[in-house]
Amino acid sequence: MDKSRALIIKDKGVLEYVELEKPQIRPYEVLYRTQSCSLCTVEQRTYLGTRNYGYPFLGGHESAGIVEAVGEGVVGFEVGDKVVFTSAYCNQCVYCHTGRGTQCLLKKKLPKRINFEGSMLGGGLSEYLAIPAWQLIKVPDDANLDHVALTEPLACCIHSIEKANIKTGETVVIIGMGIMGLLHLKLAKMKGARVIVSEVNDLRRQKALNNGADIAINPIKESFIDKIKEYTNNLGADVVFNTIPIPSVWKEAISILAPYGRLIAYSSQDESVEIGVDFGKVHGKEFEFIGTTNPTMENNLNATWLIANKVIDMEEVIDSRFAFDEGIEAFKRAIEPDAYRVIIKY
Ligand SMILES: [Zn+2]
Ligand SMILES: [Zn+2]
Repeated sequence: MDKSRALIIKDKGVLEYVELEKPQIRPYEVLYRTQSCSLCTVEQRTYLGTRNYGYPFLGGHESAGIVEAVGEGVVGFEVGDKVVFTSAYCNQCVYCHTGRGTQCLLKKKLPKRINFEGSMLGGGLSEYLAIPAWQLIKVPDDANLDHVALTEPLACCIHSIEKANIKTGETVVIIGMGIMGLLHLKLAKMKGARVIVSEVNDLRRQKALNNGADIAINPIKESFIDKIKEYTNNLGADVVFNTIPIPSVWKEAISILAPYGRLIAYSSQDESVEIGVDFGKVHGKEFEFIGTTNPTMENNLNATWLIANKVIDMEEVIDSRFAFDEGIEAFKRAIEPDAYRVIIKY
């Protein structure tokens, strides 16, 4: 048993099971045995070839597992602990030292979690990984590992929500009700906001209403801008989160901001497409544009608490579950446009 089976994306549209060397732990590392791994858009886009991380690719950054062994110097974990891993924060750079590990300068310099000739993000699609202890969070023994495997997407949304600095009673608009939009909705309601969502899919709009959205707009059937004006007495929205990667949405998003409005750039965007912005208006209306990407360590910790204590029910965003051996079927389901998260279980 000194091998670690892994499901890799060998090339665009090509998945393959490979046997890697089971990693040897070094001091301050934990041997992590994967139990549950979710297929994020990174894996989906790499599989489809719409994003190139470099092939072959070992993915799986939304994962939960069990501590199999601990290295010298590890004091926070014991064999058998249930854990989730976070981003590969180096814990040695100026951003990590100041609680802003989303901008870690050195994560690419760290030793790989497993010896793999190719590009890698997370690595939860391998049975075993060697992970520095500071990149792990212990979860309660009774935590549902499929649910806590979804720590990272929730933590990304917590980062975004906290940067928006929502005040009780403010009007928040969320564009897009995929998993990220839905998690933003749940968190914004917890902040005491009135939430208006914009989504073209009927089922997702209904799901938003079931999850506390105050109003759900279908931007294909009605004018998004007119509707926001109508619902806000012509003032506009205090906070707008854009969760969809369509460049033309930005102008609409800016046009519905109220004075002092904050626009949160949550979705990744094609940097080569420029969006014209009237900075006279930004000045006069005191708008704020805020970028957000990935979570900090603290956001991850808070996400595990919300999930493990069942404050947020992650079952809502799980589409389906597949055994590790059914990984190819799992990818096929994950790339369907209506799928929320697909979980692979070991
Ligand atoms: Zn993710
Ligand atoms: Zn760092």
